[in-house]
Order: sequence, then C-alpha cells, then structure tokens
Amino acid sequence: MKGYRVAVVGVTGEVGKTFLKVLKERNFPVGELIPIASARSRGKKVVFNGKEYTVRALEDFDSFKGIDIALFSAGGSTSKEWAPKFAADGAVVVDNSSAWRMEPDVPLVVPEVNPEDVKWHKGIIANPNCSTIQMVVALKPIYDEAGIRKVVVSTYQAVSGAGAKAIADLIRQTKAFCKALEERGIGEEDLTPELLAEIFKELPEAQKFPHPIAFDALPHIDRFFEDGYTREENKMLFETRKIMHDESIDVSATCVRVPVFYGHSESVSVQTEREITPERAREVLSKAPGVVVMDTPQNNEYPLPIYAAGRDEVFVGRIREDRVFKPGLNMWVVADNIRKGAATNAVQIAELLIRYGLV
Ligand code: NAP
Repeated sequence: MKGYRVAVVGVTGEVGKTFLKVLKERNFPVGELIPIASARSRGKKVVFNGKEYTVRALEDFDSFKGIDIALFSAGGSTSKEWAPKFAADGAVVVDNSSAWRMEPDVPLVVPEVNPEDVKWHKGIIANPNCSTIQMVVALKPIYDEAGIRKVVVSTYQAVSGAGAKAIADLIRQTKAFCKALEERGIGEEDLTPELLAEIFKELPEAQKFPHPIAFDALPHIDRFFEDGYTREENKMLFETRKIMHDESIDVSATCVRVPVFYGHSESVSVQTEREITPERAREVLSKAPGVVVMDTPQNNEYPLPIYAAGRDEVFVGRIREDRVFKPGLNMWVVADNIRKGAATNAVQIAELLIRYGLV
C-alpha cells in the first residue's frame, strides 16, 4: 500500500500525542510524518514508529504541497488560519477544533454514523466535539431501530478534554489539597465543610477553569449564551443534527467538568418515536460498530471512565426504560475523550479517505 505524507498539527498536545499512538496502533500507512506545533515547540523531538522527528512551526513552511493528509488539533484560531492553506496546497485536513464543524460545505463525520459524508469534502473534514461523538455512536443504533425525537443529556467530562494544562491543574490541586490536609493534621474523621472551604481558598489557581476542579464539579464548559446554555451544550444539539442528518432531533444538554483525568461519561435520556424495550436496545447496541455493552449492574458492571481510558470503543450500560420519556430509554455512555472523542475518530476518517480513494 502507498505510504501517505501525514502532517500532525498540534503534535505536542494531548490529542496530538495520541494521534501518534493511534496512527501506529492502527498501522496507518504513514510514508512520512510531518510533526508541527507552535513556535514554542520548534526543535522539540517526537518519536513515531521508533524514529525520532523534529517538530516544526507552521510559520517554517513556504508551502504544504506534497502533504496528503493533515490531522489538526491545535485550537480553533490556528485551524481557521492554516487549514485552508493546507487544503489549497492539496492536503485533506481532518480538523479537531470547532472552527469548521458547522460550515455547510464541511462534512462533520463520525465513521460509525455517517461515513459517506467524507465523500463530499472540499479539502476540510471536521471531527465533532468529543461529547457529541460518543453520544451519537450510542444513539445511531437506537435511531435506526426506533427513531429519536428528543434527548436530555448530562455530561461528566474529564479534565483532559481541556488539554494538557487542565490535567496539570487537577494534579497540582490534588497534591496541594492532600498537603494541606497533612499540614493541618486533618485525619479521616476531621474534615468539615468549613475546613474544606478554607483549604479550597489556598489551592493553586487553575490555568484552565474558573474554579478549582479537584474534588468538585463545574457546570460550566466553554462560554455561556444569553439563553443560559453554554457553547459546549449547543454543540451537542447542532452537531448531533448535522451528523444524523435530522434537524428535528432536540437535544437539551448540561455539560459538567468533573475531576476525572480521562473519559467522558454521559447520562442520556432518549424519547424514541416507536417503542423499544431495553432488551432490544441491548441487542442492537451489542451489534453496532464501535459499541461495547457493559450492562450487568447486579454484578457492579457498568461503564466507568477509568475502564474506558485508553480504549477506542464507546461503552454503554444502565440501559433501562425512561420514566419520563415514553416511549423512551435511559442509558449511561462512556468513552475516552482523547481517543474516540478526538484522535481515533480523526484517524478513522483518514482511513475512510483511503478506503474511498479520496487521497
Ligand atoms: P493541548 O494539549 O493544549 O495542545 C494544543 C496543541 O496545539 C499543542 O500542540 C500546541 O503546540 C498547539 N498549538 C497551539 N497554538 C498553536 C499555533 N499557533 N500554531 C501551531 N500549533 C499550536 O490541547 P488538546 O487537548 O490537544 O486539544 C487540541 C485541539 O483539539 C483543540 O482545538 C481542542 O478543542 C480539540 N479537541 C480536544 C479534545 C480533547 O478531549 N482534549 C477533544 C476533541 C477536540 P505547543 O505545544 O507548541 O503550544
């Protein structure tokens, strides 16, 4: 098979590093790797397939000619500025940021749901938001079986979803919290809400979040709009409609950041058009691509972020009849936000490009 020239833009970040792992694991036919980040990382080394490469900055290139595929994970503004330049020079860009997702001439693709959409790309293909990806992978088999009218979803999102600095925030704050307990001589039975509040005031300032994230839950991801929803919550509505090709689906989301390192969890209530029993839902989900059903709660078996971390599948459990939506289902959906929510999904899109002869 032909070896492709693959650029990874944002190679030093959480998603970028995972791109390298996933490309290797999936045996992606990389002929030449071109690792790129910001000028801050110029000259740093990365290792891919046992070979060392030097990181270059975007500004170092006069042209991007000869690059077949560019995997971007360097933030929205970088994508807005640079992805069109790669595309103009003949590369197909698969972009992880939100910059292009809702552009009408940019396909938004989850390979298990709408693979054919890659065929109408015009140089840029967008990877959906991590929370949307795992939700639609779990919703698609239900949609095909029973139709979907409405979804109410609450997310429990890992700090890694906000990048490397957010992981550092959780580590620093957790260490500082434990140190404060020790210094004050607070034992297992001594903690009170008042002491907790006192310690929280002393925690190192977060680089990524408006409040400390250790030992707390923040119902705030991305910026707020006037209607009270956040941009992250709106992404779950509008991206779902675009991927599923169904503008009639309503999604009401509450997105919450929790002190988990890797793996987003979602409580998803679905109103279906037609009756579907939990047994039938388990059956169709078990056969669906990219889904693993883990649903024996009587044995304490249900999806956990710690289990999903480092895996590529979407895990679904706690499947039950919804008590409010009738007909409807309630389920718990967990996936690794950096892998299926970003790097793996993008590499799967690149694989589709090869399969359909588009690169
Ligand atoms: P990250 O850990 O903060 O890494 C950011 C990467 O972008 C670094 O490699 C950084 O390079 C690079 N970068 C920043 N500014 C740049 C510039 N001007 N030119 C070139 N490179 C630049 O963030 P991340 O979590 O990997 O996320 C990256 C992107 O993927 C974001 O758009 C994010 O929204 C998206 N995404 C993330 C997730 C997730 O779960 N983490 C999921 C889906 C999508 P330096 O190291 O040189 O600064």
